[in-house]
Amino acid sequence: MSSDPNCIFCKIVAGQIPAKKVHEDDELLVFHDIHPWAPVHVLVIPKLHIASHTDVTAEHVPLLGRMLALAPRLMKDLGVTNGFRTVLNCGPDGGQEVYHLHMHVMGGPRPWLKG
Ligand code: 5GP
Ligand code: ZN
Repeated sequence: MSSDPNCIFCKIVAGQIPAKKVHEDDELLVFHDIHPWAPVHVLVIPKLHIASHTDVTAEHVPLLGRMLALAPRLMKDLGVTNGFRTVLNCGPDGGQEVYHLHMHVMGGPRPWLKG
């Protein structure tokens, strides 16, 4: 399934729900988290609907590489100069709330709300 009509992040990809976008290309979308834990908190998502990390297969490897490679550039563009944190929650015990693969990227001066 490339898109799930009931998925909130697929709706953001489709423009049906607004988001504060910071980057968009053919495969990835990045937007500010609606409840930030840190002064800068963005979510990097594939446009393709992949429900969670456990659904990642070998064909997704280049996509995941692009998500990781994009993070430092995003943080630099958003003015983060003192390091950042990336988090990928998977499944109930991993604290995943939205079942569309996403990578949290957080930075900015501490203290932060979480972590
Ligand atoms: P998870 O716990 O699944 O790793 O994180 C989901 C994240 O998505 C949460 O940090 C939550 O604040 C964020 N989020 C949930 N719904 C929306 C939304 O409609 N818009 C935006 N921008 N972020 C959302
Ligand atoms: Zn989705």
